[in-house]
Amino acid sequence: MIPYARQSITAADVAAVLQVLQSDFLTQGPAVPAFERALGAYCDAPHATAMNSATSALHLACLALGLGPRGRLWTSPNTFVASANCGRYCGAAVDFVDIDRATGNLDPQRLEDKLKRSRKRPDVVVPVHFAGRPCDMAAIAGLARRYGFRVIEDASHALGATSAGARVGNGRHSDITVFSFHPVKIITTGEGGMALTRDARLHEMLQRLRTHGITRDPRRFRGRPHGSWYYEQVALGYNFRMTDIQAALGMAQLARLDTFVEKRRALARRYHERLAPLPLERPPPDDASAWHLYVVHARGGRARRAAIYRRLRDAGIGANVHYIPVHLQPYYRALGFRAGQFPSAEAHYGSALTLPLYADLTEAQQDEVVAALERAL
Ligand SMILES: *Cc1c(COP(=O)(O)O)cnc(C)c1O
Repeated sequence: MIPYARQSITAADVAAVLQVLQSDFLTQGPAVPAFERALGAYCDAPHATAMNSATSALHLACLALGLGPRGRLWTSPNTFVASANCGRYCGAAVDFVDIDRATGNLDPQRLEDKLKRSRKRPDVVVPVHFAGRPCDMAAIAGLARRYGFRVIEDASHALGATSAGARVGNGRHSDITVFSFHPVKIITTGEGGMALTRDARLHEMLQRLRTHGITRDPRRFRGRPHGSWYYEQVALGYNFRMTDIQAALGMAQLARLDTFVEKRRALARRYHERLAPLPLERPPPDDASAWHLYVVHARGGRARRAAIYRRLRDAGIGANVHYIPVHLQPYYRALGFRAGQFPSAEAHYGSALTLPLYADLTEAQQDEVVAALERAL
């Protein structure tokens, strides 16, 4: 089976992990801050906090921004459930803003329309860079200033992407940016995530919440230290730490990030050419995208898409579908959401088909995908 996504692991990755296994620290050692500095530098962000997943990073990003039970979070319905769940972890109400059908991204125009007609405005908005293509962050940041909300970029798909020449993650148009290192994403640490920010205060909160709400910084103590073993728990935090084993893998992967993204872009360009004669809607070309996903749209409705999906699977092609709109999940329906509320995301879901795309996908395998798709159509 050619999967829709998979990691790329070399001998250098294995060696980096082994080195940590044979060192003094499996966790809370030097590999985690080294990975944080390197990823922050890559993205041009001064502060980075590594965590055990992007889900944890989104959760703590919400807490650091003060989201609580009386708060409201808006995100895109065309995403993985974690982009919305982070608001629910904080007890906040979650709502959605429909997407731009052409890109699959949260539509800033619809965001503005919804802000204008809503009495209950959001405290936090979470745009998602769907498939690796950056949202219009300048527009969203403009609305954030005008309507007074904070912004968390869910950049789980977009490590290595650029927007107006600047790397996603630089944080000039948001408060916090989150990346995922799950094996299907651009680089992997097995499980893992990172929260980047330009704000030193937010960074300090993220670091503290990641490890039980504990500080060892004497400047932060409320009481008088009893000795050099002293620490204080100043907030209710979690154990969301990344291990040094994971960070070492992340560091080794980071060395190949540009190559990974270049390969993804080249494969995306190649799909665009090869699929031109087929009765499909292709994603708009974009050499600034990180191309986490290559999503085409089949014509002929849901039954037809399901048939094409089945035929691809039977031919050994691990197609997938991104995304089931979050508001249609039973958990969110139980909160009052229903079909028809976000028609563009629902239409997107109705015809979407994700084709295999990852750094190690060979051109021969890609040709196999195209041939199978041609037969399936
Ligand atoms: C993968 C993903 C997440 C969650 O990432 P984890 O590291 O698995 O927790 C969140 N949001 C989006 C858009 C994702 O694709």
